Order: sequence, then C-alpha cells, then structure tokens
Amino acid sequence: MTSRILSGKIIADAIKAEAAYEIKLLESGHGFRPCLAVVRIGEDPASAVYVGSKVKASEELGIISEHYHLGSETSHSELLALVQSLNQRDEVDGILVQLPLPPQINASEILETIDPAKDVDGFHPFNVGRLTQGEKALVPCTPAGIIEMLKRSNIQIAGQHAVIVGRSNIVGKPMAMLLLQENATVTICHSRTKDLGAITRQADILVAAIGRAGFVRGEHIREGATVIDVGINNVSDPQLAGEFFNGEDLEKRLATIEKRGFTLVGDVNPTEAMAKAANFTPVPGGVGLLTVAMLMKNTVDAAKRRRRIN
Ligand code: NDP
Repeated sequence: MTSRILSGKIIADAIKAEAAYEIKLLESGHGFRPCLAVVRIGEDPASAVYVGSKVKASEELGIISEHYHLGSETSHSELLALVQSLNQRDEVDGILVQLPLPPQINASEILETIDPAKDVDGFHPFNVGRLTQGEKALVPCTPAGIIEMLKRSNIQIAGQHAVIVGRSNIVGKPMAMLLLQENATVTICHSRTKDLGAITRQADILVAAIGRAGFVRGEHIREGATVIDVGINNVSDPQLAGEFFNGEDLEKRLATIEKRGFTLVGDVNPTEAMAKAANFTPVPGGVGLLTVAMLMKNTVDAAKRRRRIN
C-alpha cells in the first residue's frame, strides 16, 4: 500500500486564510484587529523557533502581535506580574506563555493565572474542564489542528477506534477528549502500557505523541490505518537517519544534516508507516504547521467571544 500523504501546509493555509478573512471583517465591521501577546523566557532554541513562527503568522494575517522576550533569570513573580498586566489590558485578546519555563518558575501557577477568556493555548483548567464536559472552550492547538486535518481530509472519525500513544496535557489528553467528542472509540497508551503493539494494531486512527524518533514501527500499524505523527525530534546521526528513510528521501535528509546539523523526524518510522497506512502525516510539513494555524484561529475566536461578536 502507498499512503496518501496528508499535507499540513494545504490545510494550514486554508485555516489561516479563513482567519485572515474574519480579521478583515472585525476590522471593517467592529473597528479593531485581534491582539496576541506571546511571552518567551530565556534562550531555548526550539522555543525561539516556535515563537518566531507564531509572531510571523500573526503579522501575516493582520493580528496585532506583542512579543515579550524576558531573560532566563526572570523570577516567578516578575512573570506573574506581566501575565496579570496582560490580563488587565482590554485590547489584548490572547496570551501565550511559551513552554518550557525555567525551573525557578512554577508553570502551572502561571498558566492558571492567564485569564481563561484569553487562554489561546487552551491549557487553563477552566478550558480543560469545559473541553472535558463537551462545552465550548479554547482548545489546545495541536490536537484541535489534528481534528481539522482529519475532517478536511474526509477521514471518518465517528465509530472508528482511535488509539493515542502519549498522555501529555498538551497533546495526548486533549486529543482523546476531542476524538471522543467526534464519537470515536478512544484508547490512550503510555509508557506503562503492556503489549503496546497489540493495542495500536487495533487502531483505525493512530496518533503518536511520544517524543522518540521513529518509535512507532510498521509492526504497530494496522494495514489501511490513518497514522498521525505529532512528534518533532532532531536527528543528527546520519546512520540513524538511514533507519528512517531510503532512496532520494535519505539523500535529502543527509544533505539537511550536513547543512544544518540535524533533520526533523517524527515519532513514527516514515518508510514503514507508508508501506502500511492509508493516510500518513509527514514530518516536517504535517501536524506542526496546523498548530500555528489553530493558534491564529483561537486568537480570532477569543477576540470574538470576549467582545460578544458572533
Ligand atoms: P511528553 O514528553 O509530555 O509526553 C510523552 C508521552 O509519551 C508520555 O505520556 C509518555 O508516557 C509517552 N511515552 C514515552 N515513552 C513511551 C513508550 N516507550 N511507550 C509508550 N508511551 C511512551 O511529550 P508531548 O506530548 O509534549 O510531545 C510529544 C511529541 O510531540 C514530542 O516529540 C513533541 O516535540 C511533539 N509536539 C509537537 C507539536 C506540534 O506542533 N507538532 C506540539 C507539541 C508536541 P508517560 O506519561 O507514561 O511518561
């Protein structure tokens, strides 16, 4: 079987175009543009890349973007004070504090301080609770993007068995809630799951959010399944890259390692997945692009809901 490759770019572009249209309507009809404040602490290189792409996407779409970059020595109370001041500013519609945070900062307390109405990452317990209850909420961007990808690719969710590997608050758990809301039968697996393959092989939809390059192998995948690869891992060892890619793909990956020092690999072995899955998301170019697009959508939704605009 040769998989259909689900392009994150095409779907992300569509979601961003819809958000840009709504922003134009808000500006012409209501006289404002949504405003997103992004806070980054320290010099984590991955955070710098993620924040950069969020700020760039905001600017492209017409969202007013405020970028706060604080030093790695920033104290818990300093960050708390910044979040509180952003909560109070009525023109700020969305607040995003980029994770991970340095050890002197209590991340849960910071996330719980963000006004739930401005919580565009969907990590506040208020939004998590509403999602669990099946009520309208700001929903974490990565799993929300995966639902968009499945729907816009006409992949049946209702009645299907969805298996998620990973139970983080950012991906695995909200993914389970959203798939349940779409009437899938949901199983969550994690590092203590016994006989993982026996469970993942039952999946019509398999979501891998583990954080280990190429962990999900062909033997984990049912013939004809849809495989969603959330993982983003840096692989710098050419020999390891050779375990995941072959032919022209491998040549390109080796050239990337030569040029940048690493190549991005998901949590699924792509060559083995493409031999079995009916649908497969590439890394890069799959789920990652949707995360940013859904952040734009969440910012527009937050702006409309806060200001009671339908
Ligand atoms: P976490 O480290 O928070 O969670 C990883 C999960 O994988 C845990 O639940 C862990 O289980 C489980 N796990 C680890 N090892 C195994 C194993 N051997 N068998 C079964 N389960 C295992 O990661 P995140 O959810 O934050 O991220 C997962 C991946 O997705 C990462 O590569 C990350 O970079 C990527 N990511 C990508 C995004 C995107 O936009 N595309 C956004 C967010 C994340 P346990 O709970 O038992 O420890």
